[in-house]
Amino acid sequence: MTIPVLINLQTLIDEQKCYETIRQLRWPEGLVCSKCGAKSVVKRGFDETQSYRQRYQCQTCRARFDDLSDTILAGHHQPLQTWIFCLYLMGLNLSTHQIAAELELNKDDAQQMTSQLRAGIVEKKPEVVLSGEVKLDELYLIAGFKGQPDEVRKRGDLVVQGG
Ligand SMILES: [Zn+2]
Repeated sequence: MTIPVLINLQTLIDEQKCYETIRQLRWPEGLVCSKCGAKSVVKRGFDETQSYRQRYQCQTCRARFDDLSDTILAGHHQPLQTWIFCLYLMGLNLSTHQIAAELELNKDDAQQMTSQLRAGIVEKKPEVVLSGEVKLDELYLIAGFKGQPDEVRKRGDLVVQGG
C-alpha cells in the first residue's frame, strides 16, 4: 500500500491532553505548591496565550505558578506537543538520531531534549559546576569501556579537586 501523505503525528496531538500529561508527570500524588510544597492550592484561570495552561495560587505562601513553572518546558521554544512526542518516542527506545528525524529537529536539539527529559521535567537547581560534572561523566564512560573502574575513580577525584 502506498501512503499518499506523510503523516505528522505531532499535529494530531491534543494540546489539552499534553497539559494533562504534564500535570500527571509533575504532580503524580496530586497538585502541590511549586514553591513550598503545600497542598492548599487554588486554580486561578488560564494563561492568556496558552489557553490550556492552568494557573494556580498557593494559599499558604501566596506564590503564583502554572503548569509549566519551574519545569524544563517553561519558556522553551519547542511547543509542548514536541516535548510530549519526544517522550513517546523515547518510550519506544528510538535513537536520538531517529527522534531528531521524527521531530524534524537537528541532532543537538534532540540530544538536549532527551537528556533533559531523562533528568525529569521539574528543573533542578544545580549545586555542582556543570563542566566538572561533564568531565567526570566522560571519564566514567571511557574507562568503563576499558574495564578499569579503579583508574576512573582516581582520575575522577582529580577532576573534582581541580574544579
Ligand atoms: Zn506555597
